[in-house]
Amino acid sequence: MPAMTAPAASDLLHAWEYGRNRHPLDRALLLYALALPETNPDLLADQPLGRRNAALLQLRLETFGPRLRAYLDCPQCGERLEFEQSASDLLDIQPTASFPVVVDGFHFRPPNTRDLAQIVGEPDVELAARSLLQHCLLPTDDTQSIDDAMLPSIDRVESALEESDPLADLSFDFTCEMCKHVWSAPFDIAHYLWEEVEAQATRLLDDVHHLAQAYGWREQDILALSEVRRTAYLERVLA
Ligand SMILES: [Zn+2]
Repeated sequence: MPAMTAPAASDLLHAWEYGRNRHPLDRALLLYALALPETNPDLLADQPLGRRNAALLQLRLETFGPRLRAYLDCPQCGERLEFEQSASDLLDIQPTASFPVVVDGFHFRPPNTRDLAQIVGEPDVELAARSLLQHCLLPTDDTQSIDDAMLPSIDRVESALEESDPLADLSFDFTCEMCKHVWSAPFDIAHYLWEEVEAQATRLLDDVHHLAQAYGWREQDILALSEVRRTAYLERVLA
């Protein structure tokens, strides 16, 4: 992965502005573009989800640091658990197999954002998963369309995909200390990071509001200040 620096405050605010009323998949792509500003954004939707998530983890690390903290409730007794992961540790997870994934002679490529966008409207989880398999099925010599019933089970393809693209669909195991319930829950870095970007955007808008009111500075000039300097002026204004 190329070296990455934290995005400028104005770029972060821009991503939030365009994403706030958009679908989570579009938000993830906006964050992906924020992580890789040199890449043509049209190409990002075709990248494997694991590669997208790696870029988002790297962006998170550069922008807000490596410690990912969240809370979740035990599904059995409701006890609140604190959850902590390191973005650097997650970035170290390596695939144990390569693409294409081969199951029962069928070849599959890794799913990407465009594939997910095609199944967004499908309320039936099973049908959505089968449709995703069809999207990712690579053509073979036999060009005729392959019936869903001929494909291997979703579970088997999914576990094979996980070996080749472990960051595509992260989930963690939890044990409740109160009731000893054990379960697995997904961790969606795109959703997690979007919430942080949203909170940061709100703080930036507040900063602009206070500093513009006090000094008459323009928005772009306030956003161009380093965080240290912006905070120092804010302390004076709000003192
Ligand atoms: Zn519990």
